[in-house]
Amino acid sequence: MVQLTDDCFAFEGGLIPVEAALERVRARLAPVTGIEAQPLDAALGRILAADVISGLDVPPHDNSAVDGWAVYHDDLNRDGETRLPIGGRVAAGRHLDRAQRRGETIRIFTGAPMPSGDDTRPDTVFMQEDCRVDGDSVVFPPGIRRGANRRFAGEDVKAGATILRSGRRLGPPEIGLAASIGHTTLPVRTALRVAVFSTGDEVREPGTDRSAGAIYDSNRYTLKALLRGLGCSVTDLGILADHGETIRTALAAAADSHDAIITSGGVSTGEEDHVRAAVEAEGQLDAWRLAIKPGRPVALGVVRGTAFLGLPGNPVAVVVTFLHLARPILLALAGADVPTPPRYPVRAGFAYKKKAGRREYVRVRIDPVAGSLPIARRAGSEGAGVLSSLVAADGLIELADDALGLSEGDTAAYLPFSEVMR
Ligand code: AMP
Ligand code: MG
Repeated sequence: MVQLTDDCFAFEGGLIPVEAALERVRARLAPVTGIEAQPLDAALGRILAADVISGLDVPPHDNSAVDGWAVYHDDLNRDGETRLPIGGRVAAGRHLDRAQRRGETIRIFTGAPMPSGDDTRPDTVFMQEDCRVDGDSVVFPPGIRRGANRRFAGEDVKAGATILRSGRRLGPPEIGLAASIGHTTLPVRTALRVAVFSTGDEVREPGTDRSAGAIYDSNRYTLKALLRGLGCSVTDLGILADHGETIRTALAAAADSHDAIITSGGVSTGEEDHVRAAVEAEGQLDAWRLAIKPGRPVALGVVRGTAFLGLPGNPVAVVVTFLHLARPILLALAGADVPTPPRYPVRAGFAYKKKAGRREYVRVRIDPVAGSLPIARRAGSEGAGVLSSLVAADGLIELADDALGLSEGDTAAYLPFSEVMR
């Protein structure tokens, strides 16, 4: 198992801009997962572990893009109709067993190889709907472009080309592309093994009795779902009491059989926040005061060579810090090379004030507007603990560190959940 160095999350200074945090992560973290071969059918969502280079051209031969008639463009009259005799027929999966002669047309079907020919070669295909069959010949209209409806060998993939890069997460098109060059398996990263637990004496397992002052654990379920969306293999370690020794023992045990440990709650500096002390006792902890709202207290560290990510306790802060910090860290550890998720321009349907010096996220739902930018509207109330407003939201408006807010009608940067909850 690959071990991290203790100082890999070390960061000097006070409030850390999210951008600086991410740069640090990208520069310092390498994959900790192994490599295995998986059949294509089992590769969906997995991370490619090596470049894939094609050994062949796709398509393997020039072929027709339509059902119709193959001709030499040079045989066509420029200004009037052209009548050519039917010389043969070629269907997909077959080939014409002779060269096409000048002055004839060959019946051809979608995907069938273009017939060979003389120096100029049959180079153009008429769609059958555009032609008139008249006995043993076909009448063609004037005006078709040379090369129409003909697909070239290798126009999709050229032999020797790198078609997929190591680190890419495999979706349906990637898997299809690998099949198109004849692969049956792909080298992929083993799933990142992540242990999750919640902390807090007030936190109870859903479905159990809840005494006065207690709440049900939502964070652990949100986190497990977010992690599975990233393709992690998740171990649920339950809810740990606010008790230093309990947390310390659980951390040490989890570190030995996982690539990362993620927790929520207990990382502020309150006297009931025991996670921090437990991590420090077992390894190294770097409290990052991330310049992000909601979110701020985030603790990153290394326990016995395993990454430790301590997220805040408030349910919305959990999601925001997961998406912006934990997600890129976990993907880097998993071996994924994932581009920064795009932000889309939208029109703010509300005004918003903020302080400079931290990035803020506002939960919004999106109203499409015909012919103009969609409008972002506030989704529910703002509190860092109000999980229902995340459910009401389609995504987040991102306000830059130095911005002082938004006026209604301003263009704003929108991050859809669909870009990052996977
Ligand atoms: P903490 O960071 O531990 O002080 O927690 C901050 C807030 O988040 C408190 O209101 C906690 O009750 C709440 N909280 C902590 N853990 C969870 C959890 N697992 N599920 C829901 N709320 C939580
Ligand atoms: Mg707590």
